[in-house]
Amino acid sequence: TIGKIFDLTVKKYPNKQAIYDVRKNVRYTYKEWSEQVNRLANALLKEGVQKGDRVSTFMFNTEELGTTFFACAKIGAIFNPINFRLTPEEVAYILSDATPKVVLFEKALEPVISSIANRFDKTTFWFIDDEAPTYTASYQEKLAASSSRDVKADVKETDLYAFIYTSGTTGRPKGVMHTHRNMVDQSVFCIASGKLNAEDVGLVTAPMFHCAELHCAFLPRIHVGASNVILHQFNPQSILQLIEQEKISKFFAAPTMWNMLLQEDLSKYDLSSLQLGLYGAAPMAPSLVHALHDNLGISLVQAYGMTEMGPAITFLSETDQLRKAGSAGQAALSHDIRVVRTREDGPSDPDDVVPVGETGEIIVQGPCMMVGYFNREDATTKALYKGWYHSGDIGYLDDEGYLYVNDRVDDMIISGGENIYPREVEDLLHAHPGVLDVAVVGQPDDRWGETVSAFVVKKDPNVSEEELDNHCKNSNQLANYKRPRKYIFCDALPRNASGKIMKFVLRKQLEELFTPGTK
Ligand code: AMP
Ligand code: MG
Repeated sequence: TIGKIFDLTVKKYPNKQAIYDVRKNVRYTYKEWSEQVNRLANALLKEGVQKGDRVSTFMFNTEELGTTFFACAKIGAIFNPINFRLTPEEVAYILSDATPKVVLFEKALEPVISSIANRFDKTTFWFIDDEAPTYTASYQEKLAASSSRDVKADVKETDLYAFIYTSGTTGRPKGVMHTHRNMVDQSVFCIASGKLNAEDVGLVTAPMFHCAELHCAFLPRIHVGASNVILHQFNPQSILQLIEQEKISKFFAAPTMWNMLLQEDLSKYDLSSLQLGLYGAAPMAPSLVHALHDNLGISLVQAYGMTEMGPAITFLSETDQLRKAGSAGQAALSHDIRVVRTREDGPSDPDDVVPVGETGEIIVQGPCMMVGYFNREDATTKALYKGWYHSGDIGYLDDEGYLYVNDRVDDMIISGGENIYPREVEDLLHAHPGVLDVAVVGQPDDRWGETVSAFVVKKDPNVSEEELDNHCKNSNQLANYKRPRKYIFCDALPRNASGKIMKFVLRKQLEELFTPGTK
């Protein structure tokens, strides 16, 4: 169980630094942190939280989020980290679905909680900062009044450990249910791929509520007894300063975060401690992989996956980065991946495998597969049809078994009957030196069904539509029908907290921009 691996690390490395929380400027050794975890576990038990009850967190990156993660694990409560970017109504939806006994939250997010708390009379709200508002309990007081004695609870590896709501770019978010065993396995795969050991100092930069950071970086580091520096909110300068100050050796960041780091003056910092960077959770353009390799000179590892699978299902190893730039890598240990023909009338058939090099839906089996979606039997049956998780991602396998992820099924553009994968166009535009960020979406068109439109954030203010169009034409890489017919220049792209572009927002913007009479 997750509680057990935590205790084993505490036993092995009691006096090693476990956590440095930058926000509070607090450091804990494993022994000190374990006392905090036990205090919270005992406080939750005193509150009446029982095995299987939910406990939610609503905060940026904090020591308390990590403490809740392990306290829940030790008493068999189900951990439910909520995306800090969500609106009050979205948070209310998750709370009404997960029905937690306790919600822990931080001051910066108090306006969201105060606007919905009165709807949840069976839930108590614990405020982790000073001066708790009257409708909440004080986390600090609860811990001060509680024992640091170890808790003994009957938790099995097959018990549920978490409900993690997926970002859900369409429809209601769904609570992905995972067991302790799923996560201990996931942790082992990530330790192997990231070559983690107790000497590592990791930096938490991506949102901890998201499994890419939580399961692929944070948990594995604790599993091996490494230390975690927790940065409250993403900020490129703080990251670079912390790498220098704390001698960070490894960290995970989404592609958009890596891109922002590269815009800084790296020569101002001593980054020599850095060994390895992990990236994933969204596609990374090959030109960015090359830029990272050239400018940082560190090993890179990519992970591709989804919350439902724990998340990582493929890794692109450090030695394959340049040779296979653009690929998501090979199946993770103990994972089986297939690309199958998509169907209009239901889930694709796992046995309808397409030939090597042809695109189709990516489906997968592995030991960290979710148990299902909480309260959503229909969606679970569809997603896990015939024992394979159906990702909704389109991609292909090459003749060496490397996976290429093109796009979400829903983001594919069909123009004049031809399929266009936005990623191909995006990767090409990314390679233009005047482009900082780009997203390609389809726009409904009477004649062609859809045409290609590109939203572009400029790096060079002089870059023009004509110049980008010539770049596409002269590349000899893009068939004529795939060339963007419209360019929309903007200051930033709408991304969710895990770094994925919210294309539905862009499609709506296009509709508003180009519907006659509404401009
Ligand atoms: P989530 O719902 O946050 O778990 O997101 C899962 C989705 O993120 C996948 O289905 C992919 O569409 C996307 N994704 C994750 N990692 C990668 C990657 N390395 N490359 C491309 N897309 C990715
Ligand atoms: Mg998803």
